[in-house]
Amino acid sequence: MKEEFRRLQSTKERHIAIDGDSSSGKTTVGKILSRKLSYTFIDSGLFYRAVTALILRKNAQEKSEQWIEIADSVSIILCNDSIYIDNVKINKRELYMREVDELVSPVSTIKEIRDIITKDLRENSEGKNVVMSGRDIGTVVLKDAFLKIYLTANIEVRASRRFNELTAKGVKITYNEVLENLKKRDMIDSSRVYAPLSIARDAFVIDTTEMNVDDVVTKIILFLKGKEYAVRAA
Ligand code: C5P
Repeated sequence: MKEEFRRLQSTKERHIAIDGDSSSGKTTVGKILSRKLSYTFIDSGLFYRAVTALILRKNAQEKSEQWIEIADSVSIILCNDSIYIDNVKINKRELYMREVDELVSPVSTIKEIRDIITKDLRENSEGKNVVMSGRDIGTVVLKDAFLKIYLTANIEVRASRRFNELTAKGVKITYNEVLENLKKRDMIDSSRVYAPLSIARDAFVIDTTEMNVDDVVTKIILFLKGKEYAVRAA
């Protein structure tokens, strides 16, 4: 334990990992938290969505042997909450298309693709104070994060949140389609062999089913202060 605190004290930049189930509030919470702390926010799901959108653009959805080649052939950069593929901005609407929602979890099971994106994510967070959301941030990407949070919520609540988000973005979809997609993605994400969705040993778990966003952010800030206090006292 002492060893862990010494490592946390010596880290110059500070990383906060927020993992959790699909639509558990990671992105909304992460954005507000990072604004309050003046940290950079990185939504790692956007990287997996960008690769998937590219696979769809190339009409290679049936040919998984090409997926790694496609992921390896481009540079993906996140800047001010926008994703650029080879310096060309990709429209958010494309990243949240139904076809992307259907294919993104199968694409994310591929080890080589995860390795490419993990490297990109680490490069994007080097030397910066960062809040990063995803599925394997506290367990793989930022294993040494100062604070690790795992968000969860009842599946029906998550489906209505996602449904509202998508319809607000102009996506035509029904609540049941969203619910089925979330169930499928949760299942693939948590059962994949490489970097499955799981709770890091040292993560704080927050069930957001009956909480509003501000309450979740306040709770995380309390955990952060508690951790800072413990590190100073060690
Ligand atoms: O967070 P979001 O729902 O946008 O992520 C889309 C998909 O990307 C997830 O369902 C998951 O399959 C994949 N993903 C992942 N690891 C991450 C972030 C996202 O496998 N760190």
